Amino acid sequence: MLSNQYTITEIQQILNADGDIVKDYTISTLLTDSRRISSATAGLFFALSGRRNGHEFIAEAYAAGVRNFVVRQGSDIKAPEANFLMVADVLAALQNLAAYHRSRFNLEVIGITGSNGKTIVKEWLYQLMSPDKNIVRNPKSYNSQIGVPLSIWQINEKNDLGIFEAGISTVDEMDKLETIIKPTIGVLTHIGPAHDEGFEDRSQKMLEKLKLFKNCRLLIHNYEQLLDYGEDIPAENCFTWSTTFKQADLYVFSGTVISKNQYLRAMYKGQEIECLIPFLDEASVENATVCWATMLAMGYAPAEADNRIERLSAVSMRLELKTGINDCSVIDDSYNSDLQSLEIALNFLTQQNQHRKKTVILSDIYQSGLQADVLYKQVADLIKIKQVDKFIGVGQSLLSHQDFFDTAEKHFYPDTASMLQHLRALSFKDETILIKGSRSFEFERISRVLVQKAHETILEINLNALLNNLNFYRSKLKPGVKVMAMVKAFSYGSGTFEVANILQYNKVDYLAVAYIDEGVALRNTGISLPIMILNPEASAFDKLTEFNLEPVIYSFGLFDDYIKYAREKNVLNYPIHLKIDTGMHRLGFESADIETLCDMLEENRYVRVESIFSHLVASEDKKHDEFTKTQIKKFESAFKQVENTLGYKVIKHLSNTSGIIRWPGAQYDMVRLGIGLYGIDTGMKTPDTGLQPIASLKTSIAQVKKVKAGETISYSRSGSLPKDGKIATVRIGYADGYLRAFGNGVGKMLVKGQLVPTVGNITMDMCMIDVTGIDAREGDEVIIFNEEQRINELATQIGTIPYEILTNVSQRVKRVYFYE
Ligand SMILES: *Cc1c(COP(=O)(O)O)cnc(C)c1O
Repeated sequence: MLSNQYTITEIQQILNADGDIVKDYTISTLLTDSRRISSATAGLFFALSGRRNGHEFIAEAYAAGVRNFVVRQGSDIKAPEANFLMVADVLAALQNLAAYHRSRFNLEVIGITGSNGKTIVKEWLYQLMSPDKNIVRNPKSYNSQIGVPLSIWQINEKNDLGIFEAGISTVDEMDKLETIIKPTIGVLTHIGPAHDEGFEDRSQKMLEKLKLFKNCRLLIHNYEQLLDYGEDIPAENCFTWSTTFKQADLYVFSGTVISKNQYLRAMYKGQEIECLIPFLDEASVENATVCWATMLAMGYAPAEADNRIERLSAVSMRLELKTGINDCSVIDDSYNSDLQSLEIALNFLTQQNQHRKKTVILSDIYQSGLQADVLYKQVADLIKIKQVDKFIGVGQSLLSHQDFFDTAEKHFYPDTASMLQHLRALSFKDETILIKGSRSFEFERISRVLVQKAHETILEINLNALLNNLNFYRSKLKPGVKVMAMVKAFSYGSGTFEVANILQYNKVDYLAVAYIDEGVALRNTGISLPIMILNPEASAFDKLTEFNLEPVIYSFGLFDDYIKYAREKNVLNYPIHLKIDTGMHRLGFESADIETLCDMLEENRYVRVESIFSHLVASEDKKHDEFTKTQIKKFESAFKQVENTLGYKVIKHLSNTSGIIRWPGAQYDMVRLGIGLYGIDTGMKTPDTGLQPIASLKTSIAQVKKVKAGETISYSRSGSLPKDGKIATVRIGYADGYLRAFGNGVGKMLVKGQLVPTVGNITMDMCMIDVTGIDAREGDEVIIFNEEQRINELATQIGTIPYEILTNVSQRVKRVYFYE
């Protein structure tokens, strides 16, 4: 019996849960998301209540084969051969089960918390200690009240070290995580402003974090960080590090740059020791120093610690979706491989519908703590459940277990080199490819071949931030109000199918685009949500109905055209949306038209009115609130008239992004969420609250030049420097969407963290910036906008609105998506 298998009867006892066991099952997997069911019969589904009530998803999980559920007491649910364990609090039950599991193992556990660097420090300690330890750790950054129990559940008897991070956002959360993790050694990383809003002050946050360490025999921390907390430090012993205080156990007294490394010297136990960190940026150096201190505190010899730290490699926690060769999309996760992160990556793969075919390239998995037979059986099951069409296994173990796999197409190779030799024969075309390998397989060599080389200017889209924004607005909606996501104009420049896919997966109710072609493109990439077309052209009605797209009818002319078409083709009862003009004066029926409109709708068998809507012209602006009220009035009178005529209810919607929060009374049945999804809401008083910018536009330096005072720069001799200095030519111009208006110092870019102005006119593909006094070199990254240098600021610089900045980024600029 494996150590993380329990019978459902045992679990019932552990949880002290009510409910009859109708059939005994052995449970090995904990499930919390009905969309991500891996092993159904061995799974136990926890109906957690988060933003959506987990109890609503029980039917979906049951249909996927799950037969064991933990539900809230009093839930009235029955299903044949399924067990329902009834508890007072489902989340607490999940946590209790994990705490019980943890209590059965007597292993060393490092518990990590802090505001920044938790995941990096965890992954680095894993890299540093895995040569001599069998380690279990959180997948990715699963550090929440739900993520931690799921992580702890992975402990088995082969492990001799656990490394778990804990993240909190408000008071009274850490005690629970401490009970589950039960760390014996604590590591405190950098404390910064993250999550300050959840606490009264920084000190309350610190005290909450320190609770993780209350049963630790050893705590590793920065000396000055806990200077004011002497009595509150709960651990028995501390090992401190510092760059300023000599009394620290590890006193780092010098740091110099050697090529691309940071070379540190320090005093430790009265001796001088050294360490070469293969990174230069401040955060990496600090995180690596934390790891250094941890290794020393745990008894590693200084020379050994230095040796291993020197070989640290960058941690990528992100799944990146890139454009591949031959119309492929590539999910690049070529840095680590274990069962949990494989499952996460496969879930991301299943979200992608743009290509029918799904391919996985996987290396052998190391250090799972499982017998090879058991491990690869589980891998093969996962691959099967996720409906992978083509499987490519690389490594001796996969090679010798190839019989386990029964995908439609499969190939096995002993190593990366031999796979690369056969690349041609694998004929990748029009498929989504997941590349996932243990570090030693160097799968980046594969991704280099399969990913289309990007023009060095890229627009990075953070899909987590997009979801965060969606959920932010969901939390502002009254119960039952639907969400229509506006994905017109390539999702405001952010990319059509990638964004639409993730919205569909996260169950928005409707999508809307401007033109029929945009709707067709969405259908062709596997989008099955209802799609509203704002501006349908009569010439493409065939496509409209063929692809099941729903037109907005905004005028009598368009209505006539559509009815003519429907009569000819005998299309009956087709869903349409009525647009009412309440003051925008763009498209829509006016108040005076409503009666005639009603006459036309009466007993019209060709159409069914799905929704009726209007558009607010200044929902964000207090100045126009009176006008907005008149729009609301006009809209209400229009929809009442229409509903009376029709005799059935239709979906009513009025609000765009800024209306959602500023006009909660105008949410009706649905809202149309646009720019807010992309992280911008001009109607909010404090624009940062709750929203995250999703896009970063980056380019790089093509050349650096010294320029004398007075020498002229760019076309028309438009620019110059006041003193002798240095300019950098960067790979972005007006053809990429960096408008000419940004020229001559109006626009600013971030280079090495410093904001520098443009010099001279912007040219078609390039422009020049002033990098005088900055150590800027060819190839260095330059940021046009990101979460720091916000789009709103760029809009202000050239007197426009953020919408225009976003949608201007030309299609020539490659989009790279990431998902953590
Ligand atoms: C674009 C658009 C929206 C979304 O507006 P945001 O301000 O981006 O939220 C809503 N409704 C209609 C009709 C639109 O064209």
